[in-house]
Amino acid sequence: MIVGDLKPLEEIISAIKAYKQVLVLGCGSCVTVCLSGGEREAQQLMRELSEMRHYQSTPPKFEVDSILRQCERDLVLEYQNIPAGTDAVLSLACGAGVQTLADAFEPLPVIPALNTTFLGASDKPGNWTEKCKGCGDCILIHTGGICPVARCAKSLFNGPCGGSKGGYCEVGKDIPCAWTQIVARLKKMNKLHFYEEVRTPKNWKPGGATGPRRRVRTGLGDGPN
Ligand code: SF4
Ligand code: SF4
Repeated sequence: MIVGDLKPLEEIISAIKAYKQVLVLGCGSCVTVCLSGGEREAQQLMRELSEMRHYQSTPPKFEVDSILRQCERDLVLEYQNIPAGTDAVLSLACGAGVQTLADAFEPLPVIPALNTTFLGASDKPGNWTEKCKGCGDCILIHTGGICPVARCAKSLFNGPCGGSKGGYCEVGKDIPCAWTQIVARLKKMNKLHFYEEVRTPKNWKPGGATGPRRRVRTGLGDGPN
């Protein structure tokens, strides 16, 4: 899922204070699961933003709503009602959702309330860890299901650097060394031969090096536009 964190309150207030009526809009997908941008968080944020003490003059009037996915243009155009008088939307979605809204409701300003942080997973309740950087050419088959792009601080492809110590990464004592984990996993899987294969330099074109990536599934619409 995409993980995001709420921006500092002062930053949000500074971004919205010039508007008269703001729609605080939650998103019902990833950011709901990571407890940062769902309906409940939108309600909480709206209550906090409504406090007079944050403003030197009249605060904006707030409305609050949530939609299942802000990152689907068809969905937001069909189902998202923008109340009359709204002069800005404060979106609690990831950056993809914010941009989808900004395109769909142009020229209405859409303000991000979250910092989109990473593509991750929940290893235990309340903890999310980065797992993937969307490199476009997945090599997990060779690395025992552990991603060296996202989980090694240097995104190394051919084993650990010299800084790996006691199974931890040199960038932080509490960060497991991804390559120590990969080797241990491959050993358990009896597939250490994958570790011995030398990986040639990665082609980053599928990873976005040539501009925004697109995916078109035929038969679902009119294709690229
Ligand atoms: S190898 Fe690439 S696609 Fe696979 S998990 Fe890592 S970053 Fe994601
Ligand atoms: S110590 Fe391990 S995880 Fe950290 S940069 Fe080196 S190889 Fe990567």
